[in-house]
Amino acid sequence: MNNDIESVLYTQNDLNNRMDEMAAELNKKYKNEEPIIVPVLNGAMIFASDMIKRLSFKLIIDPIKASSYEGSQSTGKVKITQDIKSDVTNRPVIFMEDIIDTGRTLQALSEIMKERGAKSVEVVSMLDKPETRVVDFHADYYGFKAPDEFLVGYGLDYNGLYRNLPYVGILKHEVYAS
Ligand code: 5GP
Ligand code: MG
Ligand code: MG
Repeated sequence: MNNDIESVLYTQNDLNNRMDEMAAELNKKYKNEEPIIVPVLNGAMIFASDMIKRLSFKLIIDPIKASSYEGSQSTGKVKITQDIKSDVTNRPVIFMEDIIDTGRTLQALSEIMKERGAKSVEVVSMLDKPETRVVDFHADYYGFKAPDEFLVGYGLDYNGLYRNLPYVGILKHEVYAS
């Protein structure tokens, strides 16, 4: 285990099992559709690529970049810094996200896609932190309910680091307190 990690919450095996289950639900639901999969970069890149490999329906992948988070404190503002290229009109959109925390990012991005005329908008998130929600927003599918801790790994970063850890863990407080 990495020295900066307090404890591991979700192993690769835990994540694989939940991704299999979520993919089974999505494969049923989207069997006859051709959705636009929108990974929210950079955090969702590892989770999204693992999830997408499990999907058997026709799809296109069109990532988006949004920022609302600096270090370990949310700023509360959501800005699209790199938009998707596709026209979403009358097409289903499926966002893939690493973690839902305050809910602001995905609430804002979902609203934008609805305004653009998406046929439907759903959100698949690796993790959901229900205790820290500040807006009324729910992921349609999520891997695990996570505690109110600062987590890293499997795409989740601290100042760009730790995304490559093949598990999700709690970052030691001393790492960001120093
Ligand atoms: P929101 O607060 O808008 O729901 O979440 C925005 C983003 O904050 C998430 O997509 C994620 O990138 C980041 N975030 C929230 N909680 C954590 C966490 O525990 N660890 C890390 N590394 N990022 C987080
Ligand atoms: Mg994210
Ligand atoms: Mg981040």
